[in-house]
Amino acid sequence: MLVAGGGPAGFMAAISAAEAGVAGVHLLEATPELLHKVRISGGGRCNVTHACWDPRELVGHYPRGSRALRGPFSRFAAGDAVAWFNDHGLELVEEADGRLFPRANRSTAVIDCLRRAAAAAGVQVHTGMALQAAAPAAAGGFLLQVRLQSGPDPAVGRGPVQIQSDRLVLATGSHPSGRRLAAGFGHTLVPPVPSLFTLALAGDPLLALAGVSMDPVALCLELPDGSRLRQQGPVLITHWGLSGPATLRLTAFAARDLQACGYRAELVIDWSGGRSAEELRAWFQRARHDQARRLLANWRPWPELSRRLWQHLLEAAGVEPSRRWADLTKAQEQCLLADLRGSRHRVSGRGPFGEEFVTAGGVALGEVDLARMESRLHPGLHLLGELLDVDGVTGGFNFQHCWTSGWLTGQALSQPLAI
Ligand SMILES: Cc1cc2nc3c(=O)[nH]c(=O)nc-3n(C[C@H](O)[C@H](O)[C@H](O)COP(=O)(O)OP(=O)(O)OC[C@H]3O[C@@H](n4cnc5c(N)ncnc54)[C@H](O)[C@@H]3O)c2cc1C
Repeated sequence: MLVAGGGPAGFMAAISAAEAGVAGVHLLEATPELLHKVRISGGGRCNVTHACWDPRELVGHYPRGSRALRGPFSRFAAGDAVAWFNDHGLELVEEADGRLFPRANRSTAVIDCLRRAAAAAGVQVHTGMALQAAAPAAAGGFLLQVRLQSGPDPAVGRGPVQIQSDRLVLATGSHPSGRRLAAGFGHTLVPPVPSLFTLALAGDPLLALAGVSMDPVALCLELPDGSRLRQQGPVLITHWGLSGPATLRLTAFAARDLQACGYRAELVIDWSGGRSAEELRAWFQRARHDQARRLLANWRPWPELSRRLWQHLLEAAGVEPSRRWADLTKAQEQCLLADLRGSRHRVSGRGPFGEEFVTAGGVALGEVDLARMESRLHPGLHLLGELLDVDGVTGGFNFQHCWTSGWLTGQALSQPLAI
């Protein structure tokens, strides 16, 4: 039995299959490094999953795959992943925002855990070997061509070799070779588009505020076709424009729409932290009265409103920060209130990716039996992880899909073919 892809999905599938009693599980990794993305994930800390325990809530974090994942998550969700890692000697710790990291706070702890578990279960791991071609074998199973990328491996020999396998698992992530192999079995590929990126704003209006973060901020993206997408949460202003969890969630859900319109749209930013117009007006009135002699620059509406952002809003509204609160005109107040509750900007393009980078698109979900992660077109072929048209928002949800789809694959491999 062969698993192509030494990433989190491939490892989970191989370990689960071997632990469920499947003999002769071989895991092939094209590069010399196993679990590369796990190592660089979460800023080197690896955000393994998210403290979102209800599968019905969990699916809401997947812009692509949401409804289809209900079944898989009802069998193996975030709580099961936490328990699985705990059973395999890795304790996960929850942060205030719900993200779960290894207690050691470094991604190598996750890699060590997976490698140890694979060795203990008897999985044979081969690095520097790429699955190059795969075709159905006349006698059943698969005829595979494996290419040695670097150095000979005694288990397979030198150069391209042909091997046979009764079952084949494609866990090749977003790499084009896996997509090509899946297409070779007749699978439809939903075209890849980037997800989870920052937004660049025309004219860099917030450049001077780089480094400022605010929470919560409400974002509303207005697309050229008139549709609107909203997200709320922490926002970070960078040299590129807007980043932070709310922006990344917004770009994940709008990934396809934004690509279709060339990343040109309008963005309305509400900095008010959910305060109503009436609340803000009442606050301004009080400040005029109670802080009459104070300079506008030195007394901002609420303490959580960043000082730099407040100064920026004053300047944008044409109000001299050296003015006293008593001298704020009604027209200026109107202008400030409007900007606090809805600064309008033009999105001019896609900025760099956040800490997490995923590709939306992949093998169409309708062609996969998600209870077994098995191809509906070719029984015995399993497809999982980022190869599928599933992607989550930032926060550990992408790895969670790998753990779930890997575990389900492992269970299915220990059972006879579903034909
Ligand atoms: C910088 C960064 C940070 C991230 N941080 C997080 C995070 O903190 N939390 C989170 O949930 N997600 C995070 N992600 C997303 C997460 O890494 C991916 O969703 C996840 O790695 C996908 O797992 P996979 O096993 O499907 O694919 P991959 O991790 O891409 O693994 C696939 C493997 O298959 C190999 N391969 C490809 N083709 C072949 C072939 N033909 N033969 C043999 N091997 C092959 C590749 O070399 C690769 O090692 C991050 C991603 C990036 C890039």
